[in-house]
Amino acid sequence: MGISVAIVGAGPAGFYCAEALLERCGSACIDIIERLPTPYGLVRAGVAPDHQSTKQVTRKFEQTVLENLVHFYGNVEVGRDVTLDELLRLYDAVVLATGSPHDRLLAIPGEQLPGVYGSSAFVGWYNGHPDFRNLKPRLGRNAVVVGNGNVALDVARILVRSRAEMIASDIPDYALAAIEAADVTDVWLLGRRGPRDTKFAPAELREAGGLAEAVALVDPADLAQQPESAATATDPGPRGRRGEDKLMALFREFARRSGADARRRLHFRFFTAPLAIVGSGRVEGVRVERTRVEGDRAVGTGHEETIAADLVVSAVGYRASPIPGVPFDVDRGRITNDGGRIAPGLYAVGWAKRGPTGVIGSNKPDGVECASQILADVEASTKAGRPALERTLHQCNVRFVTFADWRRIDEAEVASAEGPAPRRKLTSLAEMLAVVGEVEARRMSGHR
Ligand code: NAP
Repeated sequence: MGISVAIVGAGPAGFYCAEALLERCGSACIDIIERLPTPYGLVRAGVAPDHQSTKQVTRKFEQTVLENLVHFYGNVEVGRDVTLDELLRLYDAVVLATGSPHDRLLAIPGEQLPGVYGSSAFVGWYNGHPDFRNLKPRLGRNAVVVGNGNVALDVARILVRSRAEMIASDIPDYALAAIEAADVTDVWLLGRRGPRDTKFAPAELREAGGLAEAVALVDPADLAQQPESAATATDPGPRGRRGEDKLMALFREFARRSGADARRRLHFRFFTAPLAIVGSGRVEGVRVERTRVEGDRAVGTGHEETIAADLVVSAVGYRASPIPGVPFDVDRGRITNDGGRIAPGLYAVGWAKRGPTGVIGSNKPDGVECASQILADVEASTKAGRPALERTLHQCNVRFVTFADWRRIDEAEVASAEGPAPRRKLTSLAEMLAVVGEVEARRMSGHR
């Protein structure tokens, strides 16, 4: 009998781990357990709805399941429907691929005001995540997005995209309608350090410079403050000299543009740190301080101003969920682990292991490392595995969603899409389970 492995979390890290295990041990019996009825984690609910090509990676993940008889147990929450201790008793190895679902806080006054959202909630809302579909964010003409990473850029871009630009996306109707009604004219992207310190990917920044209705703008004075490359031959920095040169070329191009005649503007504001979010009863603006960069730190200069805002989204990174009984590194916002090993039989991959950095493919090496560790640690299967999990779930009346069920949800979403949209997402658990239930009811009454 092959070794039994439970992977908790059906995002890219979980799938890459399953793939790596199967490549090294075809007989491994792998079960992927997921809180939502839908697989693919951030590929479905984090990758921006206008980045459909990035979402194509799910085809590969689907193959991993279908060709290898990996089982998917959706709608099963570890801690509610089955405990981690139970999984450790039932499986030879348990892998936590639970990601970083919570926002890092700005920790400034006014963060609790209505109209201020963390990026996980805001991105979840425009991506139809069941937890955030009812967010109903307060939108208006002016928005401030705090942070200079790719998530901030996604949020800013989605706010100023035209309906025509979103027609081939899978943004839910409610989000598209709300954004269109808000008629956002100005988005300020605040970076507390300089243009060379941003975490933007060059391709994403280029895209921000080519939007149909919005013009990307940079203050030339900000570029003049950081003329020299921080990336040297000995220390090429996270994206290397060439990547940084590409970004700076784009920023220089944005600095030559004028927003005067544009319907919408994306303002890149560097050397600008948020001090407080202000407003009476709801957000009305962000109090900011100009900074200068010393070493790699932003230092306040004492020059303050207020940027008017109807909406503030903080996109300053994420942190993992502490799991009862699992050691947690509060400072780094991730599970305490030693190269992925947490405790005997328990492993972490992806953002739960590393913290919230890297693109989808960055999870692949984690999967490989974890698979090697499991195969080194577990000599032979000694645990009951899948049949025991199913017994436990049935005993607790948990209506788990299988991969075949998910494919029905998928088919229903694709079938109800209009025009070039790839799908119209179901955004509530009730809707998803109804699709699964209807099919089940038809099958039981003798119809296909
Ligand atoms: P990120 O890349 O770590 O960026 C976080 C940003 O927030 C940084 O600019 C950081 O500035 C800033 N920040 C942090 N604390 C702040 C504070 N207190 N005040 C003001 N600014 C603050 O995180 P992310 O954008 O959430 O992205 C997470 C990961 O997902 C990244 O690896 C990203 O590349 C990836 N991702 C990729 C794509 C894509 O490839 N299309 C799309 C989305 C996400 P400092 O640098 O000064 O700390």
